[in-house]
Amino acid sequence: MDKTNRNHSIMCSVDACKHHCDNAEYCALSQIQVGTHEQAPKDKKCTDCESFTLS
Ligand code: SF4
Repeated sequence: MDKTNRNHSIMCSVDACKHHCDNAEYCALSQIQVGTHEQAPKDKKCTDCESFTLS
């Protein structure tokens, strides 16, 4: 994976993720999966980037 890629459609500040861009606040993947760990999500904290992988 090219970690210099800046996917301008996916801004992200999670530096601990393996897929985070090396030099800017973007995701380096071409697409991600977003989901929820709640049965009835009510707020943004209820959602998750399911493509997250620990760096
Ligand atoms: S996979 Fe998700 S958490 Fe990881 S850099 Fe991309 S958007 Fe951020």
